[in-house]
Amino acid sequence: MHLLPTSSPPSLVRLLVSALISPSSSLLRPLQPPISLLSRRPLTASTLPMPDGDDSLLRKALADKLATIQAQANAVRQLKASGAPKSDIDAAVQSLNALKLDKASLETQFLQSATNNRDAFRQALVNTLERRLFYMPSFKIYRGVAGLYDYGPPGCAVKSNVLAFWRQHFVLEENMLEVDCPCVTPEIVLKASGHVEKFTDLMVKDEKTGTCYRADHLLKDYCKDKLEKDLTITAEKAAELKHVLALLDDLSAEKLGAKIKEYGITAPDTKNHLSDPYPFNLMFQTSIGPSGLSPGYMRPETAQGIFVNFKDLYYYNGNKLPFAAAQIGQAFRNEISPRQGLLRVREFTLAEIEHFVDPQDKSHPKFSEIASLEFLMFPREGQMSGQSAERLQIGEAVARGIVNNETLGYFIGRVYLFLTRLGIDKERLRFRQHLANEMAHYAADCWDAEIECSYGWIECVGIADRSAYDLCAHSDKSGVALVAQEKYSEPREVEKLVIAPVKKELGLAFKGNQKMVTEALEVMDEKVALQMKADLESKGEVEFYICSLGKNVTVKKNMVSISKEKKKEHQRVFTPSVIEPSFGIGRIIYCLFEHAFYTRPSKAGDEQLNVFRFPPLVAPIKCTVFPLVQNQQYEEVAKFISKSLTAAGISHKIDITGTSIGKRYARTDELGVPFAVTVDSTSSVTIRERDSKDQIRVNVENVAAVVKEVTDGQSTWDDILKAYPLHSSGSVDEE
Ligand code: AMP
Repeated sequence: MHLLPTSSPPSLVRLLVSALISPSSSLLRPLQPPISLLSRRPLTASTLPMPDGDDSLLRKALADKLATIQAQANAVRQLKASGAPKSDIDAAVQSLNALKLDKASLETQFLQSATNNRDAFRQALVNTLERRLFYMPSFKIYRGVAGLYDYGPPGCAVKSNVLAFWRQHFVLEENMLEVDCPCVTPEIVLKASGHVEKFTDLMVKDEKTGTCYRADHLLKDYCKDKLEKDLTITAEKAAELKHVLALLDDLSAEKLGAKIKEYGITAPDTKNHLSDPYPFNLMFQTSIGPSGLSPGYMRPETAQGIFVNFKDLYYYNGNKLPFAAAQIGQAFRNEISPRQGLLRVREFTLAEIEHFVDPQDKSHPKFSEIASLEFLMFPREGQMSGQSAERLQIGEAVARGIVNNETLGYFIGRVYLFLTRLGIDKERLRFRQHLANEMAHYAADCWDAEIECSYGWIECVGIADRSAYDLCAHSDKSGVALVAQEKYSEPREVEKLVIAPVKKELGLAFKGNQKMVTEALEVMDEKVALQMKADLESKGEVEFYICSLGKNVTVKKNMVSISKEKKKEHQRVFTPSVIEPSFGIGRIIYCLFEHAFYTRPSKAGDEQLNVFRFPPLVAPIKCTVFPLVQNQQYEEVAKFISKSLTAAGISHKIDITGTSIGKRYARTDELGVPFAVTVDSTSSVTIRERDSKDQIRVNVENVAAVVKEVTDGQSTWDDILKAYPLHSSGSVDEE
């Protein structure tokens, strides 16, 4: 969810999907430099200095060096002024030059550590991903459209593996109810949810050219650039910029505009002045049917489809809480300035869970199963006071009230397990709590699973306790009560608001609309009802807005009786709270690519070879089969192995080209294939593991069973190594 309070009315800009896709004119992506121009050192994401990394030591060393240079320059000046011997002056100048050289090398180190390694790594990665068709810009032959991407064959396989595991880990293990709702959504639904009014980002415009930019991105880029490239800023200024970065999501339109002015930020392309920030609605508008009279939007999230089906799903679940519904599907957001590849796009796959729970009991029966998990958490207070994320046990975080309740904590733990099992590096994953302004006013607590990549810490999963907001909003707008009941074992005496519409009078007054008015009266909340009672008593009639009719009606005193009565109740009726984990699948996949990618030197040492260390669960193809040389016997064996792999349900690829075995290994390492079977005899073959390059010898009949055991996760490669003889490379050459 993405609804933040805005201080000014939403933009009236409404773009027809078919008419215009980008609010700015930048449709083209820059070309990546060829890989040969990139660093020849091995690259790995985990060792890269990251943009948010701590550069304070380097900064301090530079500041110290500058002070020493200053002192030495003064000493030289004094020696010259006092007419000291030439040899003394020369020696002092020599020391000064040596200090300047040291400073230059520190500066290079600083600049390289901050940006160069990171850029080289990312370019090598993106080149590989696009060349091997993991993903590529959509509509490329027409020069592409910013923020739209296609997944090619290995990308599709990775995506479907991630989604299959998501279904297994959440839908299956937690008994969730999966639904599949349309992308095209009528306006009334998104009016009720608040998206029509508030689904906005703050935008600034180049005052001369009209080019649009996201206001917070400009401020973020300015701060990061200064921190990474400007060696003249003081430690205090660096701390201030870091503070702005930490609080960026918390800034109102006014504060954002003030900072942009204070730092003198101008349009990046033209250096022209920028307008004040104003909200731009991110939804793609369309109309349903040919008349143009029924406005709709492409859904910006899948959650609303679940909320509007709550009543039926609750019934399907035997009228019992808690339960969760889940949906995987496309979401559409007309991002102001899409960038960073798959991280900010205009159409993407979301996987969302809505877990409905009694607001008076947010305990979770399986909490103890994850309570001892320990990982990086970044509570609100820590962010505000400039501390770093800390390692916390989730059980302790809930017990200390850092995380609002057990169910929210349970999902944080489950998301941690999901991401790390996919192959996300646990040292580069943290759970960050939303700051006060970042969180919608109705939310009880929100945490983002953020993954660190070459772009910094990226929100990949949002986990929010949204209280009863969504169901109440749809109850109000639709007039259908989206509520749950708790049956009491013994009747209880309670003071109750009783709203009794007088159907005869309502029928006479509203005829065909009587049902809508009756329902709207019945679902009034207590505050509204008591106000109506007071108004009816003092004025005799009151204007009442009926959402389902879209207009006010006049309700008179004889049409409804509102009272507070002591009653025996057999059940409690309430609106459930909802806890919503929302997964951006494309973002998770991109971060997986970064965490899995590395390069290693070829055997001859003349080039760097690319490898994805995907766990078997994620790998697009689990296994390749290579006859060592082209001959009919080996090809027969390869075909037999291929058949047995198919029967075992293992995705694989045969490569019978005459290319050297080393080249064939390199080709599949670049696709992240974890195991390669090489047929070098008719009775037994070798199986090679991608990262260690270890090979074992296995009888032809056993190959499928061994590969299945290790790809299904029943055994590790280390277990397999103990059970089968190691093959020391002889006939089967490495690259
Ligand atoms: P939100 O509803 O804004 O919290 O978004 C839910 C999740 O969708 C986020 O955690 C992101 O992973 C993902 N997401 C949001 N916007 C985009 C986008 N423009 N491109 C790709 N993923 C996105």
